[in-house]
Amino acid sequence: MAELSASFRLGGLEIAALSDGVGEQAPSDWFPGVAAEEWVAALGLDAEVASLPVNFGSFLVRGGGHTTLIDTGNGARTRGQHPGAAGLPDRLRELGVAPGDVDLVLLTHFHADHVGWNLEEDGGPVTFANARFYLHEADLAYLDDPNTPVSEGTAYSESRIAPLVADGQLEGFDGEFSPASGLVMVPTPGHTPGHCSVLIESQGERLFVVGDAAPHVAHLERPEWSPVFDLDGVRASESRRALAERAIREQALVTGGHFPILTVGRLGAAGAGYRWRDAEVASVE
Ligand SMILES: [Zn+2]
Repeated sequence: MAELSASFRLGGLEIAALSDGVGEQAPSDWFPGVAAEEWVAALGLDAEVASLPVNFGSFLVRGGGHTTLIDTGNGARTRGQHPGAAGLPDRLRELGVAPGDVDLVLLTHFHADHVGWNLEEDGGPVTFANARFYLHEADLAYLDDPNTPVSEGTAYSESRIAPLVADGQLEGFDGEFSPASGLVMVPTPGHTPGHCSVLIESQGERLFVVGDAAPHVAHLERPEWSPVFDLDGVRASESRRALAERAIREQALVTGGHFPILTVGRLGAAGAGYRWRDAEVASVE
């Protein structure tokens, strides 16, 4: 069974990668238009596979006076659908963290698999009652725009976001935004208009949580490979490239919510793209 939780140190912080379940993804969704032999080689596989594991991951950052959660998974609606599904509250509890302990919730973007546990169930209550929530203004505007196509996904997202906006618990922001010392939300648009990655810094160590700028490390190695889920694939490619360049420049570790737990690495330049190397991290028992 896939790992559902792992913790490591970043400077003076403790970072926990927590799963809200591990599902399956068709490679054609992640690598549309890419010849099979290319993605098979990029993923280090021997042959084509029909599905790849997709973790629905959040990150808990503890230290510096805050308990911060990055993304809130699919939520209760996926219970029983796949291993670990709807397990985020249990994963937090295993670490001794009650929902009320979380004081910051950073949402990388509005998609349904990242905002699910904003509410305990349809209609509420708010799961993290004592937290301030942050989501980029461009995503809020997209959900509000009457021209945005209505789907089951956007309706679910709206149901998990609108009540928090209405009661003032969720704030929008524009540009690069620091909700607390050592945490920066870095706009990496394309997947959604307001998509952000989160740059975490402590004692000179840095970690980029890339959100859905890259659902698989192969998307960082080949920034031009845009998943079908990118609303604007060209812009998303530009964001992946900018993100990779910044991670290299800042000597930052990199991880992502859809990567299997635990996947942490560093990027280096390689031809027209980048290469991923797994990194050693100091694990926390
Ligand atoms: Zn996602």
